[in-house]
Amino acid sequence: MLIYLFNTLTRKKEQFISLYENNVKLYVCGPTVYNFAHIGNLRTYIFQDTLRRMLEYFNLNVQHVMNITDVGHLESNADYGNDKISMMSYKLSKNPWDIAKFYELAFLKDLTSLNIKKPNIICRASDNIKDMQQYILYLMYKGFAYEVNGNVYFDVSKCDNYAKLSKNNLKYGFNRSRVMRDKYKKSSIDFVLWFSKSKFPKQIMKWSSPWGEGFPGWHIECSVMASKYLGSKIDIHIGGVDHISIHHTNEIAQSEAYFGHKWVNYWMHSEFLICNKSKMSKSNYTFITLKMLIDKGFTASHYRYLCLSFHYRSVLFFTWSALIAAKNAYEHLRNRIISCYNNSDDIINKDREEHYKDLFIKALCDDLDTPKILSIIWIMIKDNNLGSKQKFTLIKKFNIVLGFNIDLFVKPKLSSDLRKLIKDRDIARYNKNWILADSIRKELLKYNIKIKDLSNKSEWYFFD
Ligand code: AMP
Ligand code: ZN
Repeated sequence: MLIYLFNTLTRKKEQFISLYENNVKLYVCGPTVYNFAHIGNLRTYIFQDTLRRMLEYFNLNVQHVMNITDVGHLESNADYGNDKISMMSYKLSKNPWDIAKFYELAFLKDLTSLNIKKPNIICRASDNIKDMQQYILYLMYKGFAYEVNGNVYFDVSKCDNYAKLSKNNLKYGFNRSRVMRDKYKKSSIDFVLWFSKSKFPKQIMKWSSPWGEGFPGWHIECSVMASKYLGSKIDIHIGGVDHISIHHTNEIAQSEAYFGHKWVNYWMHSEFLICNKSKMSKSNYTFITLKMLIDKGFTASHYRYLCLSFHYRSVLFFTWSALIAAKNAYEHLRNRIISCYNNSDDIINKDREEHYKDLFIKALCDDLDTPKILSIIWIMIKDNNLGSKQKFTLIKKFNIVLGFNIDLFVKPKLSSDLRKLIKDRDIARYNKNWILADSIRKELLKYNIKIKDLSNKSEWYFFD
């Protein structure tokens, strides 16, 4: 089956052909850890997870690298303002290292809740500073970068086709109005590779360098870590659409200057999550986190379902009513799946089964059309000409890509210890020993088991 993916570089759907036969090199721009990830950020990571799952569905071995930006991302994607983590550290009077560590852990916890597969390598910018300095020295040696007054800049005029990803017209000033000009820069569109203390004296996270004590620019971090962990040619590079015009444009400029050849074959970008008519953003402090959804009675799977019901290249207009609809649909689907699992009809219709497999694969290979896949599942699950066991087998297969916790909601067998615990609790209830009953209930929650108390018995179920 041929896989087609939309490549931002050409603005077309293109057949995906890996550079490395059965291996795929995938780089994902990770979060800037100065605050909690919001549900817009998480939408982007659900998308990259679905893409990875799709490649794995076709037996491709994905080498998946994601960075953590714990230094160097300024208030703007261009070179002005302060480092976001330093700003937060002044605001909270806390050490920036502790801030970065805290939000990195919170982010990784969100990925686990959303059943997002962990990248093979997660690398922190601050752990790779020496490599960045070496890389910058080589760019200077090749004539693509220059030092001025303690800062090192990339010389955009040396690039052949700087705007090939963004399609911005340089003649009319690429983001010129937004870039605060350092009077020493040769051109306002040159971008920073290394800031020395001369520019941001209050910066706490800084390292000695040939150009003075300082810290790297945000864009160089990704170029360096991507090549360190994936080599000089990458199959797919991912981020949100806000990365197209500056961050990814600059990553391409640096990396292609460094290697002297094409660096990434497929650039993929997910669209924004919009709330109250504006892009959800960490810096405006009014964003929604996964924890907020969970506190309101939703699960991570409800949010995952909502995201999959939109194509990754469509704007997701977030509303609470849309999330409630996703929750209802997901719970309805869950009940259908459980009844398929428990039902023992003996209908077997191989042709229908193949028909649904074909539809699924067509939608998958058409630039990851997850809304279409969900609609196919709904038609399939209601199809009276297909046996229940067949439906369950199909759902399990499709779920390799969708990534829901199906194994949790079709009751797996309980261990004898857990069975005994539930029985002990029933006895405690019978004896009106509410304290013991309550403590066993809490213990069972650790195993994802919830108890529903009925008048003279109890029922248990797994939750996700
Ligand atoms: P950040 O932590 O701000 O560096 O962003 C992490 C990822 O989330 C990047 O790939 C961004 O492009 C993406 N992103 C930021 N805001 C949104 C949004 N409102 N909707 C979807 N993705 C977003
Ligand atoms: Zn990046």
